[in-house]
Amino acid sequence: MDIKNLYREVILDHANNSRNKLVDQNVEGYIKKRGYNPSCGDDIVIFVKYDNNKITDIIQHSQGCSICTASTSISTVEIKGLDFELALYKIDEFLKLIRGEKYDDNILKGELLAFSGIKDFPARVKCASLSWITLKDIILDIKKGVINE
Ligand code: ZN
Repeated sequence: MDIKNLYREVILDHANNSRNKLVDQNVEGYIKKRGYNPSCGDDIVIFVKYDNNKITDIIQHSQGCSICTASTSISTVEIKGLDFELALYKIDEFLKLIRGEKYDDNILKGELLAFSGIKDFPARVKCASLSWITLKDIILDIKKGVINE
């Protein structure tokens, strides 16, 4: 299997079997934020639970194209368990990856690289970045003490 097919498999897997999906979990005490991408119609909600400076859980609900739902799924897996500083760093590096900028390959590995082809489709960058930007906003809000549970 060539690398492009492998990347396509990763994206389809996350789009079709999305991880940390909101089903019937109790999200009381989670910080919640909606992300909307009008150019494609992608609509997501991210729920974050934290303890001190660490993200202890993330749940997501996403509706939209496969790039958005796959990226939302993978963002929850990659950011869950990290402390705020590392999470913010990883989010910024991922945003560089999908924009085709130089990124830290010590931190972005494995399945995340499946999104490296997005840079060739500028219209899809917003789809791929939506959950990551929403997560970043939540972390920054928590750090600022702006909390809307
Ligand atoms: Zn989209």
